[in-house]
Amino acid sequence: RAKFSGKQCLAVFDHAMHESVLKRLELEEALRTVLKDGGLRLVYQPIFDIETGVIVGLESLVRWDHATKGLISPAEFVPVAEEIGLIVPIGRWILEEACRTIHRLNEARGDGPPISIGVNVSKRQLADANFVDLLKDVLETENVSPNQLNLEITESMIMDSPEQIVDCLSEIRNLGIRLHMDDFGTGHSSLSCLHRFPIDVLKIDRSFVSTMEVGDDYESIIHAIITLAHNLDTKVIAEGIETTRQLQQLRDLKCDFGQGYLYSKPEPIEDLQELLSAIVNRPRQDPQFGFASI
Ligand code: C2E
Ligand code: MG
Ligand code: MG
Ligand code: MG
Repeated sequence: RAKFSGKQCLAVFDHAMHESVLKRLELEEALRTVLKDGGLRLVYQPIFDIETGVIVGLESLVRWDHATKGLISPAEFVPVAEEIGLIVPIGRWILEEACRTIHRLNEARGDGPPISIGVNVSKRQLADANFVDLLKDVLETENVSPNQLNLEITESMIMDSPEQIVDCLSEIRNLGIRLHMDDFGTGHSSLSCLHRFPIDVLKIDRSFVSTMEVGDDYESIIHAIITLAHNLDTKVIAEGIETTRQLQQLRDLKCDFGQGYLYSKPEPIEDLQELLSAIVNRPRQDPQFGFASI
């Protein structure tokens, strides 16, 4: 016997719908003024050379501290910003802020090696006709060399519209900016397509890394990805390393670089100073550490 009459069910459903529509509208409203309100900040997750344990770069990740809602995840608000077109101005601010950080790190590093920072870019930004000019503009204004900036793009972003996007990516790469393919393995692309994309580094998605301990099959998949990437002269970063066991497995598979909670969570740049100073004070050519920036 049904507990509610049809009418009551509809009322409950209506209420839930109403709530979620309201929540979405509120989010959109808040997003429209987020830059003016200064609600965004960047945190940075170090990326390490798996063999030597030396930091080779940082990935920037955006955070939104909302006055009343608290911390809102980029997984929640970036897709909304993308849908309503706000990702273009927000993405510009993210690029500027990351470049300001690169500049500040350069000022502080003395003779140490330059550190590169990766910035996540969304599809709408890449599709914007002015994106390449914007990149040039930001690098020039913030006085940053293109080879210290990496852009992270996902596999699915390029699979959908290959030709047009590949041209744009080549142009970006010709500026000296390096391209990292993010979340590799989640976008249903064929491994055999990989050679068509002008990328420098491939990032294996966390979902693969986390299942690696579970069974040999997953380890074989990662092994295949790493081997193929190396054959194409592409370096590999493993995302989301959480256990020493995973790290050891990746080391055995000759994965080049890694990031994850085992090494460090994403942190405000001030909180990474100690970690960073360990490398900036190291001689650039110290063979013991073999520093290579990604
Ligand atoms: P992503 O680029 O693949 O970033 C990796 C995500 O995994 C980050 O989540 C990071 O905090 C998290 N992570 C890193 N190591 C570990 C680990 O060991 N364990 C676990 N469980 N998680 C780990 P976050 O910061 O919440 O970002 C989520 C996604 O939002 C990013 O995925 C990226 O797609 C997007 N995003 C973040 N920042 C930006 C940005 O500035 N611009 C754009 N367009 N998208 C961004
Ligand atoms: Mg990323
Ligand atoms: Mg990723
Ligand atoms: Mg990922």
